[in-house]
Amino acid sequence: MNLKNYINKFSYYFKDSYSVDRFSKYLIVGGAILSALRYTVILGYAFVVYGIWRTLSKNKPKRYKELYAFEKYRNSIIQKFYLFRESFKHRSKYKIFKCPNCSQKLRVPRHTGKIIISCKKCGAEFRGKS
Ligand SMILES: [Zn+2]
Repeated sequence: MNLKNYINKFSYYFKDSYSVDRFSKYLIVGGAILSALRYTVILGYAFVVYGIWRTLSKNKPKRYKELYAFEKYRNSIIQKFYLFRESFKHRSKYKIFKCPNCSQKLRVPRHTGKIIISCKKCGAEFRGKS
């Protein structure tokens, strides 16, 4: 078999395989970084192999499902990061209290002394120093 035939056969085999998506990119790049570190070499290689395998996979519905789960997880992390950043920005102006009854987080302006805080969610009242 000559080279042209070989290439044709190769591209025929992969013609309806799943392509590179964001999840695979993260796996391959993250895996490459992990494989450069001493204690995560095996994990890094596993990530890279999994990322490449996903790219060549022909089970598209399952890969889309994985991508969807990954995007959902990624978005929740981004959202948490932004929330954290916002509360960090306003840390000098507000103090966060946690309701002892329902664990709802309550934001109170700082430097108002000893105050009675009433929970917006469950109505419980407790003392706090802002
Ligand atoms: Zn409460």
